[in-house]
Amino acid sequence: MSLSFDLSGRTAIVTGANTGIGQGIAVALAKAGASVLGVGRSSMAETEAMIAQGRGRFASYSADLGSIEPVNQIVEAALDEFGSVDILVNNAGIIRRADAIDFTEEDWDAVMDINLKTAFFLSQAVAKRMILNGKGKIINIASMLSFQGGIRIPSYTASKSGLAGLTRLLACEWASKGINVNAIAPGYFVTNNTTALREDQKRSTEILGRIPAGRWGVPEELGGAAVFLASDAAAYVHGIVLPVDGGWLAR
Ligand code: NAP
Repeated sequence: MSLSFDLSGRTAIVTGANTGIGQGIAVALAKAGASVLGVGRSSMAETEAMIAQGRGRFASYSADLGSIEPVNQIVEAALDEFGSVDILVNNAGIIRRADAIDFTEEDWDAVMDINLKTAFFLSQAVAKRMILNGKGKIINIASMLSFQGGIRIPSYTASKSGLAGLTRLLACEWASKGINVNAIAPGYFVTNNTTALREDQKRSTEILGRIPAGRWGVPEELGGAAVFLASDAAAYVHGIVLPVDGGWLAR
């Protein structure tokens, strides 16, 4: 049994690593020793610079995750760049806001495609490699909306509730193959995803008033949970959805 949090020699694929939560997690995994392949459609230069400062290894792969077309190439890119695929963080995601009564099919499909469908098929592509190796770690970025209903975000709630269920299903199928599938459920974090919410005075005050920690989280604060779930220390942890939420769910 190992209690190590060291990720030296491991390769992590992190989707949406250019900003926000994905960037915070990519930097944390690199600090713990992992080589990181950041995958997304925007420049990863800022993340690359942050990781280089800490002497970590980083490479980027350009892909639009709104479809599952690039999933096999992403795995190949990680193998070409670093020689293995040990950790996958399904972080890239979007949100669309409108009353359920007016919600469009476009807003439903766009959110479900990236938040749930791509997360599943990228996990499948990566797991084929991990099963050959007899080990691997998959971490899905869930949400408070994996547990709660919310308002005005029907496809987001459906996708994140679905992702929690998918985390449990994949854990049940792949735990015996040496793969740990788990999720992190961030509470309310300061990122592009929550700009509209933070700018809405009424909603922002309501949310802040309900967070026991009394403040929004910042992406670096998800690093510890990600490193733990990616490490040998979490070898017997399967199928959990770990809240990192300033106490939101305890309320
Ligand atoms: P963010 O700053 O908006 O980041 C979203 C990430 O997803 C960005 O890297 C974005 O890339 C990427 N992405 C979106 N559409 C993409 C596409 N079609 N192809 C490739 N990449 C795409 O928001 P965030 O808060 O860090 O969100 C990261 C994850 O955390 C999401 O799954 C979100 O649901 C989840 N989350 C966030 C919070 C929170 O409070 N912020 C709470 C719970 C869960 P671009 O920059 O190119 O758009």
